[in-house]
Amino acid sequence: MAVDRLPLIAGNWKMNLDHLQAIAFTQKLAWTLRDARHDYASTEVALFPPFTDLRSIQNLIEGDKFDLAYGGQDLSAHDAGAYTGEVSGGFLRSLGSTYVLVGHSERRQYHGETDDMVRAKVSAALRNDLTPIICVGETEADLAQYGPSAVPVTQLSAALNGVSPAEIVIAYEPVWAIGTGKAASEEQAQQVSAALRATVTEVWGLDSGDATRILYGGSVRASNISALMRQPDVDGALVGGASLDVTEFSSICRFLKHVV
Ligand code: PEP
Repeated sequence: MAVDRLPLIAGNWKMNLDHLQAIAFTQKLAWTLRDARHDYASTEVALFPPFTDLRSIQNLIEGDKFDLAYGGQDLSAHDAGAYTGEVSGGFLRSLGSTYVLVGHSERRQYHGETDDMVRAKVSAALRNDLTPIICVGETEADLAQYGPSAVPVTQLSAALNGVSPAEIVIAYEPVWAIGTGKAASEEQAQQVSAALRATVTEVWGLDSGDATRILYGGSVRASNISALMRQPDVDGALVGGASLDVTEFSSICRFLKHVV
C-alpha cells in the first residue's frame, strides 16, 4: 500500500438487505467503527447497497453525520429517457452517492455486459460526477489459458478506451475467487494490480497511474486483509459476503491495526 493513496474498503451488499435492514446494519457498523475509534482519514469506508436502500442510507448518513461513503452497484449508460428498469448516474448523484460499481463480474456474467457497455457506463458515471469503481477479473478458464493479468488488463484497456483522464478506482476481482472462500494469493493480487496500474499509466500518464486506487476483491476476510494490504499496488478491498457481517467488515476496515 502506497502512503499517498487513501485506502478504500468497499462493501458490496449485492441483492441483500432491504431498506429497513440497511438502516439497522449501517447504524451498527458506524457505531462499531466509532467505538473502535476508526480513523476515516486513514481508511475510507464505502457501502454499495441495493438501489432501493439508497435514500434511507442517505438520510441516515447525512442525519447522523457518519463518515461513510456510498454508491450504486450499477448505473445506466444513459442519463434519462425510455429505459425501463434503469437507474441513471444523475439519480445516484442526487442521492449523495460518491461512487458506483461498473462491470462487476455478476453484471458481465448474468446481464451480458460487454466491454463496450462497461466503457459507456464509465463515461456515464464520470459525466454525472461519480467515481466509477471499474471491476475486472479473469475466470478460472482464463487463468489456466492466459495467466492472471491478461484478461483484467484487456478489460481495463477497453473500459478506458477514449475516456479522458479522471478519478477512477479499479477493482481486481478474479471471478473464481468471488464467493468461493478461495482468495487469490497476495502475490497474484500484487502482480495483477501492478499490471493494471501500468495500464493506467500507459493510457493516461504517470500521475494518473500513481494516483489511481486499485482494490482487490474475492473472498476478502479479516484474516487475509493484512497480507493483501501489505502489497505496494493494493490500495483497498471490494468485499462481498463479509461486508454483510458487521464484526467481520469492521475488522477489515480496521486493517491498519493489524498491518505492521
Ligand atoms: C464481490 O462480489 O465483489 C466479492 C468480492 O464477493 P466476495 O467477497 O463474497 O468474494
